[in-house]
Amino acid sequence: MRIEIATLFPEMCEAYLSESIVGRARKAGLIDIHCRNIRDYTLDKHRRVDDKPFGGGMGMVMQAEPIYRCWQAACEEMGERPHTIYLSPQGRTLTQGRAVELLQESSLFLLCGHYEGVDQRVLDKIVDEEISIGDYVLTGGELPALVLTDAIARMCPGVLPAAIAFEEESHFSGLLEYPQYTRPEVWEDMAVPPVLLSGHHRNITLWHREQSLQVTKEKRPEMYEAYLAKQEALKNADDM
Ligand code: SAM
Repeated sequence: MRIEIATLFPEMCEAYLSESIVGRARKAGLIDIHCRNIRDYTLDKHRRVDDKPFGGGMGMVMQAEPIYRCWQAACEEMGERPHTIYLSPQGRTLTQGRAVELLQESSLFLLCGHYEGVDQRVLDKIVDEEISIGDYVLTGGELPALVLTDAIARMCPGVLPAAIAFEEESHFSGLLEYPQYTRPEVWEDMAVPPVLLSGHHRNITLWHREQSLQVTKEKRPEMYEAYLAKQEALKNADDM
C-alpha cells in the first residue's frame, strides 16, 4: 500500500515515520509512505499557502490551489486516484474496523489541515471522507494522519511478525485484550497468574479469552454488551 501525507510540516511526520516498527517496515519496503509538502505546490512567490477567511473571523484558512496541485501531483505519480481522506475534527471517529477496511485500498492520500482549516471548495473537489481521531480539536492534522497511518501500517503483511499479533489485540474482535505479564515471575510480592507458566496451551487460550471478556465488561461495558449481542445474532443465524 502507498500512503501520501500532504502537510505543511513534513519533517514532523518524517520524524515519527522513520522510527521503530513503521520506520523498519518502510526501510524493508513493506509499506510505501511519502510526506508531501503542500508549500512546494504554491504558485505564490512568497510560498504562501493561507489567507484570511472571507466573511471575517479569527485565524487563517489554507488555500485551495496549493492543496489541489499537491493532490494532482500525487495522483500523477501514483498513476491512480488515491482514496482521499481529510483529517478533521468534524469527521467520523476512527475505529479499528475502519482501519481494517482502509487496508484494502491500494493508495491513500491524507490531507492535514492547519490554522482554522481548509477552503471548503478543495475539500468538495477531492475528499472522499473525513476522519477524526476524537471529539477534541488539535492545532493540525499531522498527529491524526500519523495515528491513522500507524493503525493501518501495523496491519500490512509482514510489518508485525504474524497477523495474530494484531488480531488478538484490543478492538480487532470487538473485545479488549487480556492482561500481559513478563519477567520476573514475582514482582513486589505480586505473582504472574500460574496458568501462564503452566505451558498448557489450551488452558492459556481459555484464560486469555475469559480475561478478555472480563476486562471488556469492566472497562467498556457498552462494548461488552455489543459483543454479546453480536454473538447472539450469529448464533441465531446459524440455528436458522
Ligand atoms: N476550525 C476547525 C473546526 O472548528 O472544525 C478546526 C481546525 S483545527 C484547529 C486545524 C486542523 O487540525 C484541521 O484542519 C484538521 O486537519 C486537524 N484536526 C484538529 N483536530 C482534529 C481531530 N480531532 N481529528 C482529526 N483532525 C483534526
